[in-house]
Amino acid sequence: MTGLQVTALAGGVGAARFLCGVVAALAEDHPGSELTIIGNTADDLRLYGLHVSPDLDTVLYTLGGGVHDDQGWGRADETFAVQSELAVYGVEPQWFTLGDRDMATHIVRTQMLGGYSLSQVTEALSRRWLASVPVPTRLLPMSDDRVETHVVVREPLGPPHAIHFQEWWVRHQAQLPAEKIVLVGIEQARPAPGVLDAIASADVVLLPPSNPVVSIGPILSVPGMRRALATTSAPVVGVSPIIGGAPVRGMADACLATIGVDVTAAAVAGLYADVLDGWLVDDVDADATDDVAALGIAARSMPLLMRDETSTRAIAGAAI
Ligand code: GDP
Ligand code: CA
Repeated sequence: MTGLQVTALAGGVGAARFLCGVVAALAEDHPGSELTIIGNTADDLRLYGLHVSPDLDTVLYTLGGGVHDDQGWGRADETFAVQSELAVYGVEPQWFTLGDRDMATHIVRTQMLGGYSLSQVTEALSRRWLASVPVPTRLLPMSDDRVETHVVVREPLGPPHAIHFQEWWVRHQAQLPAEKIVLVGIEQARPAPGVLDAIASADVVLLPPSNPVVSIGPILSVPGMRRALATTSAPVVGVSPIIGGAPVRGMADACLATIGVDVTAAAVAGLYADVLDGWLVDDVDADATDDVAALGIAARSMPLLMRDETSTRAIAGAAI
């Protein structure tokens, strides 16, 4: 078989795990392939004056073998000296965990952003993390323009107000009632250099099992993205992040509830209906394939739990 040009959209943990399977499948079955990852940057935030890109870093650390495996994000063998010193000074926030090793990445990024675009900075960081991936792989931020996911919440007795998605997710564990999810800056955002090209020239475009509302959602909302995905000659194939009516890990159901979408594999496919050609659901959701097919999307069921390298590679191989 000849090599494939594969383009994948990516959030954080779910996407990064899946992408390891994509790399393994391509390396074995499609030598000569190249992978382009378009990463979500709407989770980005500034902490202690540092520019943190949680989803880009999760992809880099995971593919580069530096991730904390059990957690799925952050660095392995991490220490927290800097953050505990900051706590002694009373510096907030303390609800977002930033380890020492991780902080080095944010320092490099923040420093470089003084003179370079986020794309260029990500390319520089990728030289460390993606160089040893067995398939030539590049990571592009969805946009070089600032976009931030905010959640409009209502605290007891207080008026509705917007907080950064990370504050709602990490600090409040998505427990604070959310009225609305807003992508601040999205109308002005332009796709980063190379993003539209990577979609137009791909042999296949993959939508990993990522949070549909706050990971894939923002990427699709960058002006021009949906059109590019709808018009590329490449098939666009997604993997359901919902198995048996629940997100496998995490609290994606809280996000779906906020936008009024059912927590089902078919409802998530519906969110992507205008761009999707194929959709993988778990065997427990095999009944949903008819509903998905009714949307004009080819659907198939298989085990979708990424429990180890073998199962993840099988899911990726099927998607490809
Ligand atoms: P985040 O940005 O770190 O939250 O990560 P993503 O948005 O990329 O992915 C989170 C989503 O991945 C979760 O909401 C789950 O629905 C999904 N997910 C996690 N593990 C698995 C798995 O083993 N199988 C499937 N199908 N989905 C998973
Ligand atoms: Ca994320």
